[in-house]
Amino acid sequence: MSERVSRYNPARVRELVGSVPVSGAEQVDAVVGAADAARHGWAGTGPLERAALLRTAAEAVEPQLDTLAELLARESGKVRGDCRGELGFALTYLRWVADRAPAVLADTETDDAAGRLLLTRRPYGVVAAITPWNAPIILSLLKIAPALAAGNTVVVKPSPLAPLAVDRVVRLLAGALPTDVLHVVHGDAAAGAALVGHPLVRKVAFTGGEQTARAVAAAAGTTPTVLELGGNDPVLLLDDADLSPEPMRRLVMASFATSGQVCMAAKRLYVPRARYDEFVDAYLRAAEEVLCLGDPLAEGVSMGPVITAEAAARVTALVDGAVARGGTALALGRVHPGTELSGGHFVAPTLLVGVGDDDPVVVSEQFGPTVPLLVHDGEDDLVARANADELGLGASVWSADEERAFRVAKRLEAGFVFVNTHNRTGMALRAPFGGVKRSGHGREYGEAGIAEYAQLCSVHAPAAFRPGGQGASATAYPTA
Ligand code: NAD
Repeated sequence: MSERVSRYNPARVRELVGSVPVSGAEQVDAVVGAADAARHGWAGTGPLERAALLRTAAEAVEPQLDTLAELLARESGKVRGDCRGELGFALTYLRWVADRAPAVLADTETDDAAGRLLLTRRPYGVVAAITPWNAPIILSLLKIAPALAAGNTVVVKPSPLAPLAVDRVVRLLAGALPTDVLHVVHGDAAAGAALVGHPLVRKVAFTGGEQTARAVAAAAGTTPTVLELGGNDPVLLLDDADLSPEPMRRLVMASFATSGQVCMAAKRLYVPRARYDEFVDAYLRAAEEVLCLGDPLAEGVSMGPVITAEAAARVTALVDGAVARGGTALALGRVHPGTELSGGHFVAPTLLVGVGDDDPVVVSEQFGPTVPLLVHDGEDDLVARANADELGLGASVWSADEERAFRVAKRLEAGFVFVNTHNRTGMALRAPFGGVKRSGHGREYGEAGIAEYAQLCSVHAPAAFRPGGQGASATAYPTA
């Protein structure tokens, strides 16, 4: 029998949720070969026809959203409502791409005194999409939708930590598309490496951790990549920030949605020294209202377990270490009365106070349910410390004065700065998302996220050499 990836529920670790077969190198080779054979036919259908097929594919998934949300919650430990939200959002994004892609990908032509210039957008060929477990549906669709719209064929390899819902979604989508245009393979590093290094793969789109990204980049060699990596997002509360319950609830969830396991979670909080006590009080109150730790399928739960026992041990060690170095862990929120916490990988959420700027929980991506609180002494201090990190994915500025917030935002080394919010509530389909510094390169979302999957090519007839043109020396450089 072939090897399988089995997934157990992180909230009830004895519960087997399902399994998928591991794809060996031969299988990866066969799938990439089939996707390559299909690419000319798919690229030959016009952008409008492809967009129409993508809409039909979205319709095929729509009736399954509730079932898929439950499956995703059980395999990933994410709260059911969040899973349903992610699935719905992924279809919204797919339809948005279908609407926008034909215009973004259209040929543009100029014909003037300098000559005739045609710009075309050509697909790459087979795109390998390697995705993490923490938002597996939207992160897969962020690659599948624009890549297919641009005329590429796609092979997706989801994380073995959450392969089940992605497998079903990809199969539903593929069933509504021409044969071999979209495929899914399974496994971990071996399957991923076989896919990335395959000679017929023409572009690699990867979301995950930095260490894996280095292996992916090495295997990709000269194949172009999009790398969406981790973040250590700072939250800059200016001295006029609104600390009333509503924004505070939003800020708490910006750190603790998906138990803090989000690339763009609010990961370092900087509060004005003069407002420290007021902030702690407001934050603890807000957390009491919105944070309820428990089984992701239970009503009223807003935070589930972390993904694995290793993740739970890693986050616990970060918190214990910070406390051992003089910090204090303030407990946040409530526990759902019906949940047996010892049955899953649950980590109680904490706010860490009294930690130094050099503490591991401040300088590294904690990727779990704890967040350090630091004090600052004004804008310049704040910007310098926010920018001191090697990662540059997201950041947020909180102020009653929007102009001031935007001024500060422009000083931040981050690919996406949120104003008066952070994390998913601050996203927009039209706003490109991606990192600077060591958080990666390339963009998802927005028109840039569609253009990422098309190569801009030129056809040029210089005016001098067109019929009736003035001619020019055989060695002349152009002047326009
Ligand atoms: P990971 O790096 O462990 O795994 C990501 C994917 O790479 C998985 O599918 C994995 O099987 C695959 N993989 C592992 N080794 C490989 C290899 N040698 N070659 C090819 N593929 C290989 O990441 P994870 O733990 O699933 O996700 C967490 C990380 O992802 C965090 O750092 C988080 O910040 C980051 N992330 C970034 C974004 C973003 O948009 N920037 C979004 C979500 C998560």
